[in-house]
Amino acid sequence: MAKVAFIGVGNMGAPMANNLIAAGHELRVFDVVAEAVKAVKGAVACESAAQTVQGAEVVISMLPESRHVESLYLTDAKLLEHIDPSALVLDCSTISPSTSRKVAAAAKAKGIAMLDAPVSGGTNGAVAGTLTFMIGGAAADLARARPFIEVMGKNIFHAGEAGAGQVAKIANNMMLGIAMAGTCEALALGVANGMDPAVLSEIMQKSSGGSWALEKYNPWPGVLEGVPASKNYAGGFGVDLMLKDLGLAAGAAVESRSSITLGETARNLFSLHSKNGHGKLDFSSILNMIKP
Ligand code: NAD
Repeated sequence: MAKVAFIGVGNMGAPMANNLIAAGHELRVFDVVAEAVKAVKGAVACESAAQTVQGAEVVISMLPESRHVESLYLTDAKLLEHIDPSALVLDCSTISPSTSRKVAAAAKAKGIAMLDAPVSGGTNGAVAGTLTFMIGGAAADLARARPFIEVMGKNIFHAGEAGAGQVAKIANNMMLGIAMAGTCEALALGVANGMDPAVLSEIMQKSSGGSWALEKYNPWPGVLEGVPASKNYAGGFGVDLMLKDLGLAAGAAVESRSSITLGETARNLFSLHSKNGHGKLDFSSILNMIKP
C-alpha cells in the first residue's frame, strides 16, 4: 500500500480520497479550506500542501481551475520544489490544456512524472468509484498510475501526450453542450407544433436525430424517469460547470485557431441562462431558455 498526498478535497476530491483510503492507502490531505478535510475519514490532515508530499509516492490534486493548479505547483505553494522525483503526480482538475502542458513540462524539468487526469462522472461517480479518466502523459507513467486510478474509476483512457486528457474532456463536454441545446431546440419545435415530447423523442431516437442527450438525459420533464429534467432540474451536471468547460473550449480554440461556431453559441446560451440565475440547475434546464 502506498503513501498518497491528496490536495483539494472538495465535492469530487473528498470521495476520491475516501476510496483510496478504503483500498488501504495511507493518505495525507490538504485543502485551503480547513473544514473540507473533515469529509475525508482516516487521513492525516496537513497544514500545507508541502507537508502532504513528504514521503509521498503518489501526489493527486483536484482543484477548481487553471489558476489554482498553477498556484499550487508553480507560483505560490511551489509544490514541484517539494515533491520527490521518484513520486508520480496526477492532476485530476479540469483545466486548460495549455496550463496542463506548462505544469507537466515544469515537472519533467525536475525529473518528476506528471499526468493530466481529468474525470467525468460527477460526484455520484466519485463516490461510487466509477469515474471515467482521460489521461494525458507518457504510457509508462499511466501504467504506474493505473492501480490507483482503478480505485477511483471504471473507464481509463490514454488520450495522448501531456494536455491530451484535458483536450478530450473539453471536446467531449463541448459536444454535450451543443447536443443538449440542439435536442432542446428540436423538442421545443415539435411541441410548439402540437407533438407529444415523449412520442417525438422516441421517433428521433430511432431515426437520425438520436443522441445520448435525448436517450439517456432527456431534457423534457416527464419523458424519462429519474433524470434531472423530471426532478425540477435538481442534481446532475450544473449549468455553471458546463459553462466553465465551454469557456475552456473557447480558450483552447483561440490558442489553436480552431473555429467552434456551435460551441460558442452553446457557451453564450449557457452564459445567459446562468446570468438569469439558473447556474446551479442541471444543464438540461437550458430547455427553459430555448422553448417559446
Ligand atoms: P470544489 O470546489 O468542490 O473542490 C475544489 C477544492 O479545492 C475546494 O475544497 C478548494 O478549497 C480546494 N482548493 C482550491 N485551491 C486550492 C489550493 N491551492 N490548495 C489546496 N486546495 C485548494 O470542486 P469539485 O466539484 O470538487 O471539482 C474539482 C474539479 O473537478 C474541477 O476542475 C471541476 O471542473 C472538475 N469536475 C467536477 C465535477 C463535478 O460534478 N463536481 C465533475 C467532473 C469534473
